[in-house]
Amino acid sequence: MSLPSSITPDLLAKLTGMVVSTTSKTVPVVEVYTGEKVVDLPQSSGEDVETAYGEARRAQAIWASWPLKRRIDVMKRFHELLLQRNLTVVDLMQVETGKARRMAFEETCDVVMTTSHYIKAAPRVLKERKHGGVVPVVSTSTEVRVPKGVIGLISPWNFPFATSLSDAMPALIAGNGIVLKPDNKSLLNVAYGVGLLYEAGLPAGLVQLVAGEGPDIGPAIIDNADFVMFTGSTATGRTIGARAGQNLIGCTLELGGKNPLIVLEDADLEETVKGALFATFLNAGQACMHIERIYVPESRRAEFTDAFVKGAQEISVGASYDFGPLMGSLVSVAQRERVESHVNDAVEKGATVLTGGKARPDLGPAFFEPTVLTDLPADAIHATVETFGPVTTIYGYTSLDDAIAKANDTEYGLNASVWGKDLAKAEAVGRRIEAGNININDGLAASYASKKSTSGGFKTSGVGSRHGDAGMLKYTDVQNVAVLKKQVLSNPEDTDWSKQVDQTVKGLRFMRKLGIR
Ligand code: NAD
Repeated sequence: MSLPSSITPDLLAKLTGMVVSTTSKTVPVVEVYTGEKVVDLPQSSGEDVETAYGEARRAQAIWASWPLKRRIDVMKRFHELLLQRNLTVVDLMQVETGKARRMAFEETCDVVMTTSHYIKAAPRVLKERKHGGVVPVVSTSTEVRVPKGVIGLISPWNFPFATSLSDAMPALIAGNGIVLKPDNKSLLNVAYGVGLLYEAGLPAGLVQLVAGEGPDIGPAIIDNADFVMFTGSTATGRTIGARAGQNLIGCTLELGGKNPLIVLEDADLEETVKGALFATFLNAGQACMHIERIYVPESRRAEFTDAFVKGAQEISVGASYDFGPLMGSLVSVAQRERVESHVNDAVEKGATVLTGGKARPDLGPAFFEPTVLTDLPADAIHATVETFGPVTTIYGYTSLDDAIAKANDTEYGLNASVWGKDLAKAEAVGRRIEAGNININDGLAASYASKKSTSGGFKTSGVGSRHGDAGMLKYTDVQNVAVLKKQVLSNPEDTDWSKQVDQTVKGLRFMRKLGIR
């Protein structure tokens, strides 16, 4: 199959040329559908990362001095440029990750929506807040939001464009620079997005791209950063969090999940099955919020299972740079082998494969069938570990308490989905699940796409959050500027302390009654 026509040698040279690298080391970028090499990607050294921070810091000083409106104007132009060129991003993302075109397109929309949200929200979120100070009338205290400086942003391959550009957006608008390290497998589409930011008017050098294996350049990224924004696995999150802690810098860690879906007694079968299929198999199951555990009341287990399995068998899977297939490839042969090993382990331990369970080498080197398991023993890897592929298990439950207890029986807490016609009941069930995102009558998109609301992982699914006001404020330090119009806080040498204590106690009581503090 041939590469999409937008991917020319000139474009590839431009994108790989954006990586800060003085080494002669490269890694091949392969077209996932065929396994053929597309281009060599330069790799950065620790010194290159330091150079990148130096450049970003110089540009950040200029960028932060611009009025907020001027920074927002750049992002308005970026928003429009991305809407005009999104299909080139989609082409690049498909080549690098093998994901279905629909999924790649929707991913570009996430960046558009996040940009649009923060363009509107930033003036309110970043506004200075003036309060009465310690002494009424004569003093004030003002909270001023100051950009952190340069953010180290590390992103994974599964939603590379969104986890890079959407998470960069609030940081940039708040006045920060960025050193960005996408995964080696998915850097080119991100580089294209960074190119659009520059075309929109970003000062030269503000967003720096570095490339390399995490353990090689991760330490330099963290050690030079003023804040780290990381999306990836829980295991890597622990390493990054520990290093950020040593350096006394903040970090947001958006990590893995093992997400449950609960079908309630009154759920509409057709809608629920449709939603559950999407939530399970989107992005070939390589989504942190996708569903790997489905809990169905015993009374409805047979009808749900039949319909869900039939739906899984009808999913179109294939390699195409067209909008046809619903599901594409896994990202790599290594990822396919991981998924395969979880399924084989489940089968060896007694699980039943209701459909799927096999690789599809006829479609491409990393394809795997939509797979539904049941009778999964508790000691199977897939029972507790994130498989991160097109595999889910159907379980029965006997009571709501049983369903909720099973849903919560995990170290993760990223997402949960509950389906039922009685919305109040479904919501009440959802609120009892220990997860940062609760979707009622939806699998995951309803919460993820609500950019006004902050969200993040509970338990080992994360630290910190994205979206909403907190998703921007985390990229700032707060400066408390207190002003006394007249110095009234110090006591004269000859203060009568017994009187002073009495007056102070009375004054404090009076202030509480007036509601001053
Ligand atoms: P990963 O942790 O292996 O890699 C993520 C990124 O971290 C890559 O760029 C990688 O090169 C880098 N990295 C690896 N080791 C590093 C180190 N020691 N120091 C610094 N950087 C390092 O994860 P992955 O396999 O690429 O992505 C899949 C995981 O990401 C899944 O667990 C998934 O659930 C999670 N994820 C979470 C969210 C979320 O929002 N919670 C979103 C997408 C993916």
